[in-house]
Amino acid sequence: MKRVERFVRFAAGKEVLYGKLGGEGIQALEGDIFGDYRETGRQYELKDVRLLAPCQPSKAVCVGLNYRRHAAELTMAVPEEPVIFIKPSTSVIAPGDEIVYWPMVRQLDYEAELVVVIGREAHNVAEGDAEQYIFGYTVGNDVTARDLQRKDGQWTRAKGFDTFLPFGPHIARGIDVTDLRVQSFLNGELRQNGRTSDLIFPVPYLVSFISKVMTLLPGDLIMTGTPEGVGPMQVGDTIEIKVEQIGSLINKIVAPRS
Ligand code: MG
Repeated sequence: MKRVERFVRFAAGKEVLYGKLGGEGIQALEGDIFGDYRETGRQYELKDVRLLAPCQPSKAVCVGLNYRRHAAELTMAVPEEPVIFIKPSTSVIAPGDEIVYWPMVRQLDYEAELVVVIGREAHNVAEGDAEQYIFGYTVGNDVTARDLQRKDGQWTRAKGFDTFLPFGPHIARGIDVTDLRVQSFLNGELRQNGRTSDLIFPVPYLVSFISKVMTLLPGDLIMTGTPEGVGPMQVGDTIEIKVEQIGSLINKIVAPRS
C-alpha cells in the first residue's frame, strides 16, 4: 500500500506557501507541488496559519448525474455519456470560507463530491493511462442554484456564482478512490450518504473523456458528481462534506454583505 501524503496551501503572515501535513502540523514546501518542490525544514502549527484552497485551478470540470440514484431523484435519465459543465476559477473559496446566498437565487443546494486534482497537462489521454495524470484527490461542494438550473436549461449561471466552489481542506495522494463513502451533513445532520462504487462513469473514464474535449492543466479539478439526497441550505446553516479517508470540508452560508 502506498503511503498517503496530504498537501495544503496556506497563508502565514504575508507569505503564501504549499505544505505537507505531518506530525505536529505543516511542513512548508518551497516551489510548486505540480512541478519541482522540496521540503524547507520549516514547520508551522495549524492554529498559526490560514488554510487556502489547496490549489488554484484554471477550471473545474464537473460531471452531472454520475450516481444512478441521483439521476432518479432529479427525474432525469441515466446519461449515455458524461454530461459535463464548468465552474469558473472565480467561484473558488477556501475551506472555512463563507458561501454567499446571492439575491438572484431562490434555492441554494449542496452537492457532496469526490474531486480529482490533475497533476500533469492532459490531452487525449487513454483510460489506461489516466492514473499518471492525477495528482491526488480532495473534497468539494458543487454549490448549485437549483431554481436557476431548472429555469436556464444550461447550467453556467446556476453553478458559477462567486463562492460556489468550496474545496479542500487538503489534497490527498496514495488513496484508492474506487469505493469511498461520500457524505454531506447539514448542521450536523446526515443528508447524503453514497459510495464512489456507484459512479456511472468512474474516475479514469472521466479523465480520458474530458481530456478528449479540453486540455486539463496541473491543478485543474474534475468534480465527479454527487450522490442522491441533495437539498437546500439557508443563511446561517453549516454544511460539511466528507469523503472517507480524504477529509472533511466545512463552510457556512451567509447573506451578501451590502
Ligand atoms: Mg455536481
